[in-house]
Amino acid sequence: MKRKLLFTAALAVFALTINAQDLRTGKQRCYSVEHEQWLQSQNPNLKVQKDNDEQKLQSWLQNFAAARVSNGNSTNSVIVIPVVVHVVYKLAGQNISDAQILSQIDALNEDFARLNADTGNTPGPFQAAASGTQFQFCLARRDTNGNMTNGIERRLTTVNSFSTNDNVKHYSSGGLDAWDVNNYFNVWVCNMSGGILGYAEFPATAHTNTYGVVINYDSFGRIGNVAAPYDLGRTMTHEVGHCFRLNHIWGDDGGACSGSDNIADTPNQESETYGCHTFPYTDNCTTTGNGIMYMNYMDYSDDDCLNMFTSNQATRMYVSLTGYYPTLTTSTACQDVKNSIDKLNDIQFSVYPNPTDGILNVDMSTTAGRGETIQVRITDAIGKVVAEKEIGQSNVRVHQIDLSDLENGSYFATVYSQSFQKTVQFVLSR
Ligand SMILES: [Zn+2]
Repeated sequence: MKRKLLFTAALAVFALTINAQDLRTGKQRCYSVEHEQWLQSQNPNLKVQKDNDEQKLQSWLQNFAAARVSNGNSTNSVIVIPVVVHVVYKLAGQNISDAQILSQIDALNEDFARLNADTGNTPGPFQAAASGTQFQFCLARRDTNGNMTNGIERRLTTVNSFSTNDNVKHYSSGGLDAWDVNNYFNVWVCNMSGGILGYAEFPATAHTNTYGVVINYDSFGRIGNVAAPYDLGRTMTHEVGHCFRLNHIWGDDGGACSGSDNIADTPNQESETYGCHTFPYTDNCTTTGNGIMYMNYMDYSDDDCLNMFTSNQATRMYVSLTGYYPTLTTSTACQDVKNSIDKLNDIQFSVYPNPTDGILNVDMSTTAGRGETIQVRITDAIGKVVAEKEIGQSNVRVHQIDLSDLENGSYFATVYSQSFQKTVQFVLSR
């Protein structure tokens, strides 16, 4: 819910202490606002910077809206964000498996593309506002030195648990250092103290070496060592929302109804929601009609009750990240290192449409007719080969691959020969 001139009010709420708790589980769903308060207590100039940054964002949003109208609303390309996951553990159970990490990337990609299996649970009157975003996520394939990586690093620590003071983000305090925040989205997984499930750092014009999210090991992913009711990867979806500058849907105003999340297509809401309510659910800020949007990822409902972002939230995330961290949106850290940079730059191919509804066009551009036997391989998000096509030494530029038997989701197309290999990501959605 957005009210006129209230974006400064949403920032003023950092003065409030919230610390709400899920009384059933004793868990603290999210500590991003409290973390922001702590950062501001460390740096008195930060609040002024944040206010200026929000005003800047409002002006970017206006420019974006004007540009979108002038080019016919047709800017919907997929932006793939390279992710590095830093697993910091003391006990074996905290050293979560690669499979658990991949299950989180899958969940994140489904939620951000609105390809999650539970979109049908979004109440009818909210379906029109529900939206995918332009973001997808991949585990990094090259590290900061250009060497091959699987996008996961691990450390056995002597620290029993980490609070929200960012110690987990520094090797010197028992954690792991961030990889360059301009090219990698950093995720730390650890044992958090106080039952906290996660926290995020909001983006700002002034970059830090702590930008990213921290998630408790048992609310990360949806297989392996995960604990209900926060076991479908939605803690990460929520925290990434904060990293892309979304606020809590109730506006963090202590129940006053006067605060705002600066989003026009969410209803006004009193405070956070726990458990799983039945639609329509009203509160003291929205007392009639469709009630509040308790199934929005920026609320606190159980994981199996959350299922949507709105289209205005998607726009705010896009404009924020491309504004605050533009190089992160064009990072090449998910390209394989098998080939030299020169060779990679020499090869161009693209796939379209993206998202595709089943028939994928592979445009070979500069790779066609190079005198080498060229193959195309399609893999799913966890690396399983799901389709292959041999193109041979053809001069034909555009080849079609029929993927209509595959499930909706995020996939990779790799074009390769004996001397080169290059991969791009795309989404199948029908
Ligand atoms: Zn939050």
